[in-house]
This record gives sequence, C-alpha cells and structure tokens, in this order.
Amino acid sequence: MIIKEGQPKNSEGLNEAHAIMNQYLRAMEAILQQIEAYSQEINAFAAADADSIEQFRIRFLGVKGIVKAIMGEMKNVPNEQKKSFGQTLNAFKMLAESKYEVEKVKVEGGEKNTGFKLDISLPGTPAPSGSRHPVTLMRNRIIEIFERLSFTVAEGPEIEDDWHNFTALNLDENHPARDMQDTFYLSTDPAILLRTHTSNTQIREMESRELPIRIICPGRVYRNETISARSHCFFHQVEGLYVDENVSFADLKQTLYYFVKEMFGEDVKVRFRPSYFPFTEPSAEMDISCQLCKGEGCAVCKRTGWLEILGCGMVHPNVLKNCGIDPEKYTGFAFGMGVERPALLKYGITDIRLFSENDVRFLEQFSGV
Ligand SMILES: [Zn+2]
Repeated sequence: MIIKEGQPKNSEGLNEAHAIMNQYLRAMEAILQQIEAYSQEINAFAAADADSIEQFRIRFLGVKGIVKAIMGEMKNVPNEQKKSFGQTLNAFKMLAESKYEVEKVKVEGGEKNTGFKLDISLPGTPAPSGSRHPVTLMRNRIIEIFERLSFTVAEGPEIEDDWHNFTALNLDENHPARDMQDTFYLSTDPAILLRTHTSNTQIREMESRELPIRIICPGRVYRNETISARSHCFFHQVEGLYVDENVSFADLKQTLYYFVKEMFGEDVKVRFRPSYFPFTEPSAEMDISCQLCKGEGCAVCKRTGWLEILGCGMVHPNVLKNCGIDPEKYTGFAFGMGVERPALLKYGITDIRLFSENDVRFLEQFSGV
C-alpha cells in the first residue's frame, strides 16, 4: 500500500496513515539489521575449496539468494526512503559480489598453482610459419621469367567497366564471342562487371602509358561457370603485352619459346595451332608436350601427348586504335595463360577446387617449395 496525497484528512485517517508508516519503518529497521548481520557473515567468510565458494554464491548471489530477496523489498519502501535504502542495498550487493570474486580467485589460483614449477630451461613454443599458396608460387615463377626479358608487372581493377573488359578489346556489345566469357554483372548497373581476363589492364596501360609497352598483367579473373574439378567461377591469369615499332609474330614465338624452356625444361616441345580471339589477328593457341607421359599419351593430356597452356596473337589493329595508338606505325603481340592449370600439372593436383578451399592440410604441403 502506498500513501498518497488526497487520502483521508480527518484525524482518524491521519492516525491510520501514521500507523502504516510506523509499520513500514519497523519493517525496514528489521531489514537493515538483517543486512548488517549478513554483511558480518560475508566479511568473515573464507572459502576452503571450490565447493564452499559455490555454496556462498548460491546463498547470496543465486537466483533465489539473499541479495535478490532483499532487493525485492525495495518496492515496499516509501518514496522518501528509497534513495538511502537503495544505496545501502547496492553497497550490500557489491560487498557480496566482491567477496565472491576475491575468494574464487584465491581458491582457483591455489588449485592451478599446485605442483607448478617454472623450468626456464625448457625450449619455447615455436611460432608456426605459413607457406605460400601454390597459385602464388606459380604466378611468381611466371613473373620472374618474364621480368628477365624486361617485362614489368602492371595491375588493374577486378571490378571493371564494359569498355575496358569488352568493347575496347574489339568485342562489341552484340559480339558472339562475349558468350565465351560470361561473367557477373551489377544488377543496378550492367555496365559494371567482374573482369573476365586481365586484358583490361592491357587496355588501361595502352591508354595511359608512353610507348613502347612491355608488361605482364597477373591477377584474379571471373567467369560465370559451373564449379567442378576442372573449372571454377574465379581463377588467375598472367597476360603479357608488347607494343612497339616492328614487333612481329617471330618476336612472339621467340618470347614464348624462352618462357616454356625456363618454365618446363629444355626438353619440352612446343606447337602453335591457329585459333580465334577477337582482340588478336592472327591468333594461336600454344601447346607443350605432356610432361607426365613425355608425349606418349596419358589421362592428363587426353591421350594426345599435348597440353594447351596459353593463347596468343598479334594485337588487333582495332584494339590499338581504341587505345589511341596508330596501327600503321605500331604493332604488338599479346598472350594470356591461366595460373591454376600449370600449377595443377606441376604439383600433380587433380581438383582445381582445392586451391580455394583453404584446407590447411592441402596448403601446408607447399611449405617446402
Ligand atoms: Zn600425357
């Protein structure tokens, strides 16, 4: 019951109100005495073991513990007493809590320390070192070889616009060859897409750099493909570009011969097959003799003795024109290869998905490479 203004003003009512008030005060007095007694008990408490500290917790701080019960009295306290009573209650609660924490540390620390002796002669725990990813290893190896031929590394954005990924590369909006490179588009702006090759970097370099240009473009690329052991919706490429006066197909072949010998060894055989790309003319695919069966034919080379490793060709005059380069004066060659496929071959890996699954058991096998 709460005493409010507007309650009986006659003397009988006042007396009744006083009586109720006195009753409250007496009840509060009793509670304060209880708190005093409990506080003494808490102060005197010393935990002997984990069991007794748990008993203490249940008795004072548990869901049906003393602190909760006394807190529950707060609603019966007259408004003008609430502040001072609340302060007393809080102090009591904090006393119980801090005692519990202190005793807990004493008991648990004691258990932990039992029998513990510091031996500073023990060897330290070695910090495990990571290893390079097989795709990184292969990419670095490719870059290293071309750097010896004075190619420099150029990088471009993975999120690209239609011009740099398709149109500038002689792939007009309705060009059927776009189907070969289906990719991921922004639903809000179909002119923005994930690049399907690192050729976008070649375009950006040709647009902005002084000639001659001799670059390799490593990076991640995307295709809208079903994920399987042989293909993935993203993979890595290294593309190369050389634009100058009098660059010929002979230069292209000699550059790639050098690369292949450095990469796969002196005894590897090379062949060029005519092919088609919208951005090169003439175009070719380059195969190397299968290193597993030495050209005899095996499952990896599908019994042909040959493995396709890259596409290449002379830069199409339209592409040069699109980048503001005079195709009457300058010529260039370009090539592009995946990084995953030679890595599969080199390390005998049979599933391309292993490269992106982050399985430490797989990755740590390359720590010695
Ligand atoms: Zn083979």
